[in-house]
This record gives sequence, structure tokens and C-alpha cells, in this order.
Amino acid sequence: MAIIIKSHAEIQALRESAQINVEVLCRLRDAVRPGVKTKELDKIAAETIARRGGKAAFLGHPKGSPHPFPATITVAINEQLVHGIPDERVLVEGDIISLDCGTIYKGFVSDSAFSMGVGKISPEAQCLLDVTENSLLKGIEASVPSNRIGDVSRAIQMYVESHGMHVVREYGGHGVGRSMWEDPHIPNWGDPGRGNRLKPGMTLALEPMVMPGDPTTKVLDDHWTVVMVDGGLCAHFEHTIAITENGPEILTKLD
Ligand code: MG
Ligand code: MG
Repeated sequence: MAIIIKSHAEIQALRESAQINVEVLCRLRDAVRPGVKTKELDKIAAETIARRGGKAAFLGHPKGSPHPFPATITVAINEQLVHGIPDERVLVEGDIISLDCGTIYKGFVSDSAFSMGVGKISPEAQCLLDVTENSLLKGIEASVPSNRIGDVSRAIQMYVESHGMHVVREYGGHGVGRSMWEDPHIPNWGDPGRGNRLKPGMTLALEPMVMPGDPTTKVLDDHWTVVMVDGGLCAHFEHTIAITENGPEILTKLD
């Protein structure tokens, strides 16, 4: 599959889609507290997207699958990394929760995620959140025209490993815009100078997934939830960005 270069009009539509995703994540951030059920968070996301005239990108995905994703957002708590299904689980003080949402608007898909603490969390958990979020910013900083995908991957990996933590190998970022997953795949690890060259008009979702412990994962019997095999904590931050002549533009920056 070829990388899709978007026109200015297409990037503008994606920007509008991203603004809906931003509102969803801001509302979720405000709603996270001990005692809240993850399905209540999903309801907030679904209502926000509907009110803004968008469509949930994850719901029913992938089409034709025997196990389509049954909700608007994915939630992942503590040792859960990504793709968890919202349900009756109640958030507890000290949890860390990762929330990921995708919105379709005017035919364009935006995709972003963040992790946060529920109430007071341990210094170790806070450090994990900080390293993961900052590694995303390092990846974005490297997303300039003429750099290659490998330079972005390497920037993320180097930052994480310089803090004694690890990146997951089997999941990563991706092109995004006309559909939820476009080329190229963007690993959170790799060699500089490798892979496709970045060009203005490319739109990407960068998403480091980071853990202090063993980075081995498995998928639970629900066909979706990805967890750490060693039961350790993990975190996930994601932005949809556009590569412009002047450098990267973060389309899903939270207010
Ligand atoms: Mg996502
Ligand atoms: Mg993504």
C-alpha cells in the first residue's frame, strides 16, 4: 500500500475530526475518578461524538470480523496495555488508565490516546506516565520533512530506554486520515535513516506504549484486551499529527 499524501483541504477536514477527538478526551480526563465505571466513560465519548456530528471509528471495527470492537473507546487499566473493552469495572484510587478514541468526521479519521492516574498514584507510576508522554513528544519532534520513519522510531526508543524503560515491539503507530490504519507502520523502536521519508501532507498517528518491566504482551480471551504477561504497569500516549513544510503539527493536542 502506498502512503497517502493529503491536500490542504483534506488536512483541514482531519483537523476538524481531531477537534472532536480532543473534546472527547478532555471530557474523559475530567470524568476519571475513583468509583467511575469504564462503561460510563464510553457513554460520555459516544454522546460527545454524536453531538458533534461525528462517528465512532472503533465501534464495529473491523467490519466483517467475528469479534468487532463493541464500544466507542478502548480502556486499559494497570497491566492492560491497549484495546480493552469498557464494562462494569470500577476505577480505584491508584489505578492508571489509558483511554484511546477514534473519530470519523467529513470522512476523515483522527486517533489519539492518553494515560492518567486515578486519584493519587505512586511516584513510579507517575514516572511511567511522564516518560511515555515525553517519548511521544520526542517522536513528534523528529517528525520533520526529510527525516525517515526510522528516525521517529529511534527518537521514541532512545528516550524511553534512556530512562530504563521499554517499548512494546508488536504494536506501534501508523498512517491515519482517510482510514484508521494507513501505511506506513511506525514502530516505537528501530534504526535511524531507515523506512519511508517524511513528506508534507503525510498524516500519522504516533503512539508509544511503554513499560518499566518485561515488554512481552498477550491478548485476553475477549479477543481484544492486550495485557502485559508479567502483570506490570504500562502506559500509552497517542497523537494524530500532520507533517507540514514547517514541521509537525499536532492535530489532537488536548486543551
Ligand atoms: Mg488510538
Ligand atoms: Mg492508533
